[in-house]
Amino acid sequence: MTDTATTASSDTAELTFAVTKNLAAKSPAQREEILQNPGFGTNFTDHMVDICWSEKGGWHRPRVQPYGPISLDPAAAVLHYGQEIFEGIKAYRHADGSVHTFRPDRNAERLRRSARRMALPELPTEHFVQSIRELIAVDGGWVPSGADQSLYLRPFMFAKEAFLGVRPAKKVAYYLIASPAGAYFTGGVKPVRIWLSKNYARAGKGGTGAAKTGGNYASSLLPQSEASAQGCDQVVFLDQDGNVEELGGMNVMFVYKDGRIVTPQSDTILEGITRDSLLQLAEDRGLTVERRAVSLDEWRQGVASGDIVEVFACGTAAVVTPIGALVSDDFEDQQPLGELAMSLREELTDIQYGRREDKHGWLVRVD
Ligand SMILES: *Cc1c(COP(=O)(O)O)cnc(C)c1O
Repeated sequence: MTDTATTASSDTAELTFAVTKNLAAKSPAQREEILQNPGFGTNFTDHMVDICWSEKGGWHRPRVQPYGPISLDPAAAVLHYGQEIFEGIKAYRHADGSVHTFRPDRNAERLRRSARRMALPELPTEHFVQSIRELIAVDGGWVPSGADQSLYLRPFMFAKEAFLGVRPAKKVAYYLIASPAGAYFTGGVKPVRIWLSKNYARAGKGGTGAAKTGGNYASSLLPQSEASAQGCDQVVFLDQDGNVEELGGMNVMFVYKDGRIVTPQSDTILEGITRDSLLQLAEDRGLTVERRAVSLDEWRQGVASGDIVEVFACGTAAVVTPIGALVSDDFEDQQPLGELAMSLREELTDIQYGRREDKHGWLVRVD
């Protein structure tokens, strides 16, 4: 695999974005009304960023333009072969009004890893972070200031070349859109019931499980429906060796009685930035962190014996969610609930919202 981290400096020089203001932008009053109760993923800001890529011209034509429909040729490769990747990252408003993102370099690096796997071009980290700054420069008023609210940023990239042959597209688009997000848990954190999917996998060895690509989500929708039909909130997937993978949108952590915190590791798991950050905070507290395979048997026996004292899921959207039950067609294991998950959640969100010292230098101011 070639390492393109050493791109020529001309590739990573600041881009000059052409800015077209949205003349039909929401009024401050309309915006405030939405920010009162933004929900998740249904309201969008007034603008979006787009940058084109072509085999010949590289990254070019960076723009900030009014949010709106994308015009695509019906033969655009993404519509047929799913060559698409995305990211998820939040912008937080601090008490002094400033706006910060959390470890955006990590999202940029992961977008590049996903790009390599999906044969898409790598957007330089500098351009990724700059695209966030450009959008916040015009839509900063959309970063809410209520408790646990944020502006959810959704960068994505797809093959837009009109060509039905099967090969990596020679024309690609990168976009960044943003959606205000309310507190994930209204009325307190509720432990979730997790359905163990025995019939379906989200990824296979050598597949795309470690890339943040739409297809992984598409294949998780049917098992997710199965989970809902069984009265569960989410699905947990196993790999072909019977090891625990993840929930398909959140990583999993196991807390042991002796102070170890263990998270499954394999090349079919998407490595979460929330997971990595929580493990760092756990390490700072003197806990022992293990990244390794965890079998379903280890999980079930650990809970039965009392060695496992807490199980939780984590990801950018919900941050931390305690797992209250593991359910399958032939068993239902209640999960022990402890204090660590919520205490780590509080520490992490305190850092993100500027209420606690950012010892690791994770925050990047973007306004
Ligand atoms: C995005 C994602 C996660 C969580 O990653 P974070 O960086 O913590 O948000 C976990 N699993 C999958 C499959 C994902 O796409």
